[in-house]
This record gives sequence, C-alpha cells and structure tokens, in this order.
Amino acid sequence: MVENQGLLELLSVPGLGARRAAVLVHELGVHKVDELDAACRDGRVAAVRGFGDRSAARIAAGIAFVRRSRGLRLLPVAVAAASRLDARLPRREGLLKVVGSVARWREVVRDLDLLYVGERPAAEVATMLDLRVEETMPDGALRLAGDALPVDLYAAPPARAVAARVLLTAAPGARHALLARAAAAGIDLAATAFRSEAALFEALGLPHVPPELLEDAWGIEAAERGALLDIVGPDDVRGSLHTHSRWSDGRSTIRELAARASELGHRFLGISDHSRSAHYAGGLKEPDLLRQRDEVARVAEAFPDLLLLHGIESDVLPDGSLDYPDETLAALDFVVASVHSRMEMPPAEMTARVLRAVAHPATGILAHPTGRLLLRREPHAADVEAVLAACAEHRVAVELNANPERLDLDWRYLRRAVELGVVVAISTDAHDAAGLSDLAYGAAVARKAALPKSLLLNAWPLDRMVAFLKRRA
Ligand SMILES: [Zn+2]
Ligand SMILES: [Zn+2]
Repeated sequence: MVENQGLLELLSVPGLGARRAAVLVHELGVHKVDELDAACRDGRVAAVRGFGDRSAARIAAGIAFVRRSRGLRLLPVAVAAASRLDARLPRREGLLKVVGSVARWREVVRDLDLLYVGERPAAEVATMLDLRVEETMPDGALRLAGDALPVDLYAAPPARAVAARVLLTAAPGARHALLARAAAAGIDLAATAFRSEAALFEALGLPHVPPELLEDAWGIEAAERGALLDIVGPDDVRGSLHTHSRWSDGRSTIRELAARASELGHRFLGISDHSRSAHYAGGLKEPDLLRQRDEVARVAEAFPDLLLLHGIESDVLPDGSLDYPDETLAALDFVVASVHSRMEMPPAEMTARVLRAVAHPATGILAHPTGRLLLRREPHAADVEAVLAACAEHRVAVELNANPERLDLDWRYLRRAVELGVVVAISTDAHDAAGLSDLAYGAAVARKAALPKSLLLNAWPLDRMVAFLKRRA
C-alpha cells in the first residue's frame, strides 16, 4: 500500500513513467517527491541500473516543474467556478464581476478574484455565495474557501465599480503604469466615478485597453503607441484549421464538426487528422487520406456557407522531414506540421528539426510550436527566436493553439512574433465538436500580444488564406 501511494506521488513528475517510478520506489525506497529530489542530487538515482546522470538531471528538472506548478490551475477551472458562483447571487442583491488574472485570461491562475458590485458588505455576500471566510487579505479582500480554487472577494458600490474593476484586474506592472498616468493628470482613480471603462481610459488619454492587456506595462505602452487600433477581436477568428475527426483520434465525425462550425457562424473549417507515423493517435495511411478527401468533399456540399478544407497534421519526424511523400502533401489543401515524438531532444538538434520542417514547401502552419502542456509538460528545447525568424522568412504561419491546456505559442513569445511580422493561425486542435468553442481562448491570448488583424490568418479573405496555406501569397 505504501509502495502504491509512493508510486502515485512520484507519477506526478513529468517524464517519469510508471515502470521507472516503480524501479526507484523498489531500489531506493523513495516514496515522496522530496525524497526523490534528494536522491537525484546525491547521486543515488544516477547509480540505479538503467538511469545515469542524464536521467537524474531530467527527473530533477521534472521535480522543479512540479514545484513551480503547485497551487496553479488551468484557466477553465476558474472560469467554471466563477459561473457557478455567479448563479448563486440573486440579481437584486448586486452583480459579481470577475477581475484579476482570470479576467485577464491568464493561462494558469492561483485564485479567482471576484468583485461584488452592490450595497452589501463583502461578508454578507460570502454568506449568499455559501462560502466560508478563511481570512481577510492585506488588500482588504475576503479569502473564501472555494471548491475548485481559493476565491478572493472584493466589494465596491456601483459608483466606484469601474475603477475598482480596472485596478483589480491590472497586474502590478500595468497598475503602476495606470496610476502613474493618473497621478500626472491629477486624477485619483479609486475615488472617481467613471461611467464606463472607456471613460476611465479616456481620462488617462488612452484608448480602451482590454483586460487581456493589463498584464504588465507593455500593454499600456502598446495602447500609447497606437498598437490597439487594429487589434483582433473574438469575431475576427472566423474558423479553425487544425481539427481532428474520427478518422484519427477525434471523437466527432467530419459532418458533426462541420455542423458545429456552421452553428458557431464560422466561415471555414480545416480537417487535419494525424499522419501515418502517429500510431498512438490512429494516424492515416495514404489510402485513407484519399478516401477522407472524398468524404470532405461530400460533407462540403451539405454546408455551402462553410469553406471545408482537407489537410493533415503531419508529424515532424526526428530528422525534421514530414510524414508523406512531397506529392501527397502537395495535393492537400494545407499541411500543419507538428512535433509529437522525441520531445526530449537537446536544443541544437530540436531547433534544426523544427527549422527543417518550417522550410518544407508543403508546410503552411507550425502547430503548438513549443509543445508545452500547461502544468503537465515543459516546452521542448527548440530555440523559439530562430523558429519565429524561419516562419517569417518562409511565410509559414505560427499556430496559437487555443486548447486551454496548451495556449501555445505563449503570449510572451507571440509579442515577438508580431514584431517579426509572423502570420499567426489561431486553431482549436479540437478533438470533438465541442472543442471548436475554444477559439475564444485563442482570441483572448492573441490580444495579450496586441496581435493585429493583418497578421491573423483566420481574419483574412478566404481566397487569400487558402493561397497563403499553399505558399502562394
Ligand atoms: Zn498535435
Ligand atoms: Zn492536433
């Protein structure tokens, strides 16, 4: 029993599979992550048969990752908690607004900040929400015991709500920038009654800065230099290339995906199942690809308002080549290139591998460019700067994978991509029809980088998008 518990805890370390974890439990008697960490450091892990220095270093890095991730949750966990709580507050009692990191669409969050707008004291609101007060935080919030994550509850009367909402949503860097501008203009933000957020920003001489950009001073500077004039909005993301059907590891048929895309008002949908080397994901053999093309054509007839494209998510093989002969790839509407295997390659090798895939004339989109899985797996080691430069040079779109477990390319790198003029494709990587709704996450993360519509492939006229994917635009 003790061995099993130890095994469970050790399995939280990325890259340490069940078999190898069991070996360490058996050989070293380690049951806790902290014990395993010590064993990595004092050479005991390296001395176990089949491990060695490199394994020990990788396990230690995995442990550091687990520790950094502790207490963090994926954004959808917080979004769902917020909507459950919102439903508990009777409308006549006031409003509950999401503020803080969740309102900024931060990819992982530590807590859920809520602003109650109304006349009641926060403690009474906590009772209405049926949450226990744990403590009063230094900034005046009530820390509540939420069921999925801690909840910090703030309260403001309606007249102060706009300023409270902006100041509670802004992370420290952005908040300081806003307060500095306010001080220079002689405005006490917290004490002023604004009609709307737009009015608040106008008083500061700024265009409306959306919550996604209140991450740091960069967002305020972007507003100052006029970079928000052409920023993408949710409606500009008019469909998803890179989706999976039952032909590989998806759970919906092509028809179900198309029906959902239509329902959502999408203008296009790309079907890109896994390629033949992706055995674990039911990758398509070449003859399947031809049969799938016929099905895509049949479904397309039933959805005249939706441009249905037939592509493939081609594995990038360890040497950087793609997964089918060139003429097979060239016959498709588009090719999404993805690294799925040998994720632990050293930096120089991984960078060369990805650069070769980007340079392939069939590649239209480089998918989930760093391969990270939020709170589960670190990015692979490819040099992102070099990869982005290659995407700019070869006119290959870099994907912003909108799956909330990926959100890859990260928005910090996305800012660099925008600087380099790299075209961005926001895709859901949906594995069922419901997954197509994830585009909203992609749009929000794109806004963190002030991505302009001119660089968003999803926003282009369809004929131009199609031509770009074939490297003709
Ligand atoms: Zn993939
Ligand atoms: Zn995929």
